[in-house]
Amino acid sequence: MGCNIRNRLMLVNLLAAILSLSCQISAKLQRFEQRIKNDEKLRFLVVGDWGRQGDFNQSDVAFQMGRIGKELDIDFVVSTGDNFYDDGLKDENDPAFAESFTNIYTAKSLQVPWFSVLGNHDYRGDTVAQMSPALRKIDSRWLCLRSFIVNTEIAELFFVDTTPFVEEYFTNPEEHTYDWRGVVPKRRYTDHTLKDVESALKTSRAKWKIVVGHHAIRSVGHHGDTPELVNHLLPILQAYNVDFYMNGHDHCLEQISDHTSPIQFLTSGAGSKAWRGDLKNLNEETLKFFYDGQGFMSVQLTKSDAEIVFYDVMGRVLHRWTRSKELHSDM
Ligand SMILES: [Zn+2]
Repeated sequence: MGCNIRNRLMLVNLLAAILSLSCQISAKLQRFEQRIKNDEKLRFLVVGDWGRQGDFNQSDVAFQMGRIGKELDIDFVVSTGDNFYDDGLKDENDPAFAESFTNIYTAKSLQVPWFSVLGNHDYRGDTVAQMSPALRKIDSRWLCLRSFIVNTEIAELFFVDTTPFVEEYFTNPEEHTYDWRGVVPKRRYTDHTLKDVESALKTSRAKWKIVVGHHAIRSVGHHGDTPELVNHLLPILQAYNVDFYMNGHDHCLEQISDHTSPIQFLTSGAGSKAWRGDLKNLNEETLKFFYDGQGFMSVQLTKSDAEIVFYDVMGRVLHRWTRSKELHSDM
């Protein structure tokens, strides 16, 4: 009898050990609940590649974001990374945080949460500082983490840390130094990230599934496609019916459809410096829209309808795209 109890206890301990080990292997992504207004519509702006102390028309784009933000009455802003040029933040007290963020996006409508991923330029500075809660004491809007989830009643947004996927930053960093703390060994980190994103997508019951990263999966701009994401992240997005992949990195605005799924690839990386004329493959049949100047994007979602709009530095509408989804009963 005593032996049985001992065996059972051993089994329980063993199961607990296995469970805690699997939790360590695949930690759940941190999740934030974002309430939306009573009219059951979600509205947000997307901007990327911006922090230049207002230069390269950053302030002009910010002004128009304030105007459109007010018009739409936005719930939050998504930043697709490369938040602080050229080399991220030096530390938690780096004045660039206020000079490129707090003092630039001053409009009342932009005083909402800013959900941000890290870009490759942010990795050239102190990434731990850029993700530190200490920054929220300076500006409470700021939330930047590696990979995390924002859930609203209408859409679920999955933010993915894409910089560690890109081989070149490890094999050929040129004169740059990247802050890989918490990211090496690289393979283990990216495998865990993919596993976490996949398990979160698998259990998601959101009407709209949106994945946000810094690097493009598909782009006709300067950097083009990111093969590491095409090979490893895209199949997961296709398997779990993701609606939109939103990114920055290429300093342009663009919309590209997927060949084999309803995914729309949306680049909004035009928050300051743009690369005019730097593009390839304009004949790509899946290319819906491309603009090589500065600007930003808005997203409006109801349970059944999506509207994506791109704006230039003057706030003029460049491109509008809508999609309607049949409403399926949850029964
Ligand atoms: Zn970048």
